[in-house]
Amino acid sequence: MTDNITLTMIKPMAVKKGYIGPILAKIAEGGFRIVAMKYTKLSLEQAQKFYEVHKERPFFRDLTAFMSSGPIVAAILEKENAVQAYRDHIGATNPAEAKPGTIRALYGTDLGMNAVHGSDSIENANIEADFFFAKTERY
Ligand code: ATP
Ligand code: MG
Repeated sequence: MTDNITLTMIKPMAVKKGYIGPILAKIAEGGFRIVAMKYTKLSLEQAQKFYEVHKERPFFRDLTAFMSSGPIVAAILEKENAVQAYRDHIGATNPAEAKPGTIRALYGTDLGMNAVHGSDSIENANIEADFFFAKTERY
């Protein structure tokens, strides 16, 4: 288990709006180092597996349908205290409540389409990193 990584996804609407470049620039600006990265698309089954912790929540269906609706960018980011540092950098879940200058404030559309994912614990960061990347894909 690595305590200095987090897993991010640039979500389908942000990809569709052409925000991959600007979001990667903000990630670099925040001092995060890219350990692994891929442009890919989740199947509905993969999205359901990724968001399994939310399966009893009322928004699970919409969330997994949206997350499998188009291509995403997944990446492992490294920084000291990466999980909390990245959550601070992306801002609140609802872009309307995210601090000005954060990634979700700048590039989020609404609560469901909030531009990016960020892991919520060190344990989940490691589980989510393993979901997308083999150890041989990390540099
Ligand atoms: P993420 O896990 O995507 O980084 P988060 O940790 O800030 O976001 P979670 O509570 O894990 O928020 O919720 C996962 C995702 O589900 C959110 O990013 C958001 O897109 C969606 N979501 C959360 N709450 C709601 C809600 N009440 N209605 C609709 N969608 C929601
Ligand atoms: Mg979460």
